[in-house]
Amino acid sequence: MTQVLSDRSVSQTQATQSIIQLRNVSKLYRNGSQALIEVNLDVKRGDFLFITGPSGSGKSTLLKLLYGEERASQGEVVVDQDSLAKLRGDRLSHLRRRIGIVFQDYKLIPRRTVTENISFVLWAQGYTRKEIHRRLQPALKMVGLTHKADCFPEELSGGEQQRVSIARAIVGTPPILLADEPTGNLDPDNSWQVIKILKKLNQIGITVIVTTHDESLIRLSNHPVVQIRNGRMYSVNY
Ligand code: ADP
Repeated sequence: MTQVLSDRSVSQTQATQSIIQLRNVSKLYRNGSQALIEVNLDVKRGDFLFITGPSGSGKSTLLKLLYGEERASQGEVVVDQDSLAKLRGDRLSHLRRRIGIVFQDYKLIPRRTVTENISFVLWAQGYTRKEIHRRLQPALKMVGLTHKADCFPEELSGGEQQRVSIARAIVGTPPILLADEPTGNLDPDNSWQVIKILKKLNQIGITVIVTTHDESLIRLSNHPVVQIRNGRMYSVNY
């Protein structure tokens, strides 16, 4: 993965820049739910940030604003130098390719093997067979699942399925990885394994943002934490 990722090595100047900025961002859903209120956030390239807070506090909404699934009602969201307010069509697709996403429920395709699940997005983006193979092996190795390449999701444990979804998220070598409650369905051992993989990805330069309400995991991890409560963001010291 390190080798593949070095394709995107960042310059010294880029390394100190913000890769994600939220300026006075509020999100009011059409049904009247006020999910976020005047949120400000600066994430630097190469950071690893935890977002914590109770269920319904606005964590998923914040991630959705970052990958353009929802739009801010007020304020500005800037991701990898693109302001999301006016991003549509091809330019939005292009931004999404720079963001890997991991969900709590894995979202794997049931009748496809591990290899097929991971390479599907690359096929869809028109990568050659050779390039897909070049990317697949390091992604599988990174999550420790080389030996499960031909298995179907139902033949894997929850922890293994989540690791497949991480491999799928990073196989396109995005500079940003967003993980929405990635350990929500896992026991403590598997949760820690997932966090260790996310830490490893961060060490090779990927900016990682993880939402979780598991405070023991946060304490073990030793990374900066912000908390969202009732749509407002607070910084936290553990
Ligand atoms: P969390 O991820 O912290 O559980 P969410 O971001 O999912 O919180 O939700 C924040 C608030 O926004 C909640 O009150 C939730 O009901 C509301 N909400 C989330 N998604 C939608 C939606 N698509 N339409 C309307 N309200 C929503």
